[in-house]
Amino acid sequence: METVNLIPVFWIREEILFVIGHGPFPSFLHRFYLSDSDSCACGEVGDPIHYATSCPLTLSWRIRKPLVLHWKVFGTKKGLKNPISRKRIIIAIKFIIDNGNIIRLE
Ligand SMILES: [Zn+2]
Repeated sequence: METVNLIPVFWIREEILFVIGHGPFPSFLHRFYLSDSDSCACGEVGDPIHYATSCPLTLSWRIRKPLVLHWKVFGTKKGLKNPISRKRIIIAIKFIIDNGNIIRLE
């Protein structure tokens, strides 16, 4: 049974968007009928894990694939435990926010 941790977590906006999956991601926009497609410009489903691990558009800030296995078990919060991964995720999310028109497949 899951419990709620009452210790506050001081995340910035980009980290929150990554963990909850809301924001400029095509998968999120498509779920709420704000976009016709859930695909990234590269053709795969545009969710936060795709941009953090395999999208060619965020190649400079990618994180190693094995972490994805941990994320599926422990959730995307696990990716934010490593400070280097955390910094790369923040930069990638900022890039997606700034360039939303080129990362979406319309
Ligand atoms: Zn992509």
